[in-house]
Amino acid sequence: MAEALPFPSPIPLIDGFGRRISYLRISVTDRCDLRCRYCMAETMQFLPAARLMTIDEMTAIAEAFIARGVRRIRLTGGEPLVRRGVTDLARAIGRHLGDGLDELTLTTNGTRLASEARALAEAGVKRINVSLDSLDPDRFRHITRTGDLAKVLHGIEAAAAAGLRIKINMVALKGLNEGEIEPMLRWCAARGHDLTLIETMPLGDVEGDRTDRYLPLDGVKRALENRYTLVASPERTGGPARYFRIAELDAKIGFITPLTGNFCAGCNRVRLTAEGQLYLCLGREDRIDLRAALQEGGRAALNAALDRAMAAKPERHGFTIDAPTPAVARHMSVTGG
Ligand code: SAM
Ligand code: SF4
Repeated sequence: MAEALPFPSPIPLIDGFGRRISYLRISVTDRCDLRCRYCMAETMQFLPAARLMTIDEMTAIAEAFIARGVRRIRLTGGEPLVRRGVTDLARAIGRHLGDGLDELTLTTNGTRLASEARALAEAGVKRINVSLDSLDPDRFRHITRTGDLAKVLHGIEAAAAAGLRIKINMVALKGLNEGEIEPMLRWCAARGHDLTLIETMPLGDVEGDRTDRYLPLDGVKRALENRYTLVASPERTGGPARYFRIAELDAKIGFITPLTGNFCAGCNRVRLTAEGQLYLCLGREDRIDLRAALQEGGRAALNAALDRAMAAKPERHGFTIDAPTPAVARHMSVTGG
């Protein structure tokens, strides 16, 4: 790789709407060992391994972002823990913690946490998000098509034992797990985990109609308010969730509502795919090929590509749940949820 011009650049990443970009998500692989119905088709085709960036390329790009003021990085996918070398990546990025980087986190389905949690903690990860849409083994298998709930619960225990703070992500699905929202909240509260509810987003074809399963979270929140006192929390974790404390349970609940409550004005993030495409919005097609820039011109070209990216970041997503086709053709697992 050619090395040229001074690097790192001290110039922060600010987009055309004045938003400072301080958060990068890296999808380390598009592959997954589950096939959640709202996320993927059962017959999902994955990229050939040769098209994925190497761990060194991912590290170089992450470092370029840190040098431009990105303070939080999340590893995601696909399932990040099925990617070989992901803990090496975590260690390499983790070296910047306290020296530009404030936080390194991970979103996982939990199936491999039992064996990986300790290495993640040692790399400097302090918090993880674990996706868990049901505590009923049969329903869990139905939603994930292949998943074994016991394995995930075991993984969550191992992560807690390794000292990781855990936030459970639950996609709210009408007629499927909506009756489990309150039990999930109590289960999380009893273990000291936070819970975030997510509305299904129209990303990629999933061999089914998401409209049938779409559950608006404003109604869920109202139903919870009939039973509990929800006190708005000023806390933001750098993400789009709005948090509330539930005094009666000593618990925290977050709502991610891309459809009922647009959150674009405060957007601080961009997303890197495992192929090296930087998507500037989860719900749009605008992207810049950072791997090509890195390969062609090294760090200086990468830096110039980041400037082009800032100029290209769109103002807001274009999601609506009832459009005849998904808002964007690529799946959440490609861009990194
Ligand atoms: N495999 C990991 C996991 O499931 O946590 C990380 C990747 S997954 C794409 C990240 C998050 O996106 C998960 O919490 C998942 O539930 C959520 N997700 C996937 N597809 C979605 C969709 N169409 N709408 C809303 N959330 C989605
Ligand atoms: Fe895999 Fe996560 Fe998508 Fe489920 S939500 S299929 S675990 S990438």
